[in-house]
Amino acid sequence: MKIQRQSRKIPIGISQCAMGDPVRFNGGHKHSKVCTELLGQCFDYLPLCPEVAIGMGVPRKPIHLLVEHASAPVDAVRVVGVEDPDVDVTELLREYADSVVPQLAKIRGYIFMQNSPSCGLRGVRRYLDNGHGIDSEGVGVFARRLQQQFPHLPMEEVGRLNNSELRENFLTRVFAYDAWFRYVQLEAEEEVQSEPATSQTAEPGGATPAKPASQLARIIEFYTAYKYLLLAHHQDKTRALGRLLANAKSMAVDELAFEVRGRIMDILARPASRKDRTNALMHSAGHLREFLGKDEKAELSELIEEYRLGRKPLSAVLTLLRHFLPRSPHSFIHNQVLLAAEPAELGLCDFH
Ligand code: SF4
Repeated sequence: MKIQRQSRKIPIGISQCAMGDPVRFNGGHKHSKVCTELLGQCFDYLPLCPEVAIGMGVPRKPIHLLVEHASAPVDAVRVVGVEDPDVDVTELLREYADSVVPQLAKIRGYIFMQNSPSCGLRGVRRYLDNGHGIDSEGVGVFARRLQQQFPHLPMEEVGRLNNSELRENFLTRVFAYDAWFRYVQLEAEEEVQSEPATSQTAEPGGATPAKPASQLARIIEFYTAYKYLLLAHHQDKTRALGRLLANAKSMAVDELAFEVRGRIMDILARPASRKDRTNALMHSAGHLREFLGKDEKAELSELIEEYRLGRKPLSAVLTLLRHFLPRSPHSFIHNQVLLAAEPAELGLCDFH
């Protein structure tokens, strides 16, 4: 399986105020140029403002998260008016999140505005009913509901995307999540749809037989193509995923697909360390050594070591690996996503 990046823009949900729309409680916005100008090159945004959508209007009275005590679980919150705690929009926000689930089925990531009782993804200030701030353990109620509805969807906050490493990590997750639907889920569904009706044997009760073997093969191929990129993010979890797939036939294929997708997104959520990435690059180089001369091997080893020491960028190593790649006849190494153009090389990480 040779995974190619999407040629069209990838659909992404976003808090509407980040697009520059004046939908905040005070009639302002929080335009993010990183989102619109930089990431807008590869993302096609679906902007939503849950507070406007539930009819709170602009401008509107501010709201905040209310809890009974500091250790309250993340879902034990209410979203109430700062001035009038009797204004409670908790259920309205949850219902709105549920209502947009079908609309969000095609999105491959979501960018939320930080510190919002509706949209904040982490660290939102929580208050007691006497008005005192108690902690910053809250998650915006709209964002929280979408986390539950789309447990593997890559999500990030607008402010954190100003950091180039976090931005690169978000892009990596979005590209992987998008690829999963194009290469594993959708393609499998298309195959089933395009199967001639006469070739399918109806089971008792009229159910159309599934094609578990085909989808299983795709899941394994997807993991194989991502293997070295996953190793660069988390070696132990990648090996554990490999062991799960070695026993994959004991699981129902839908259950397996959900589990594997979740594990892949979990592994990629950990930013790749230079140490783990060096290890993955050495594995890649190992596949090419037999096709290299003595000086070429030395040049490649030296460059990887320079990368490990922080003296050379990743792109330099990838460029040399790609230069040698055509010499190998083995599809395993040709298909490695690790060796494809990474976000920094696409010009999506540096932004001033
Ligand atoms: S943070 Fe969310 S609810 Fe608040 S203005 Fe932005 S989009 Fe609307």
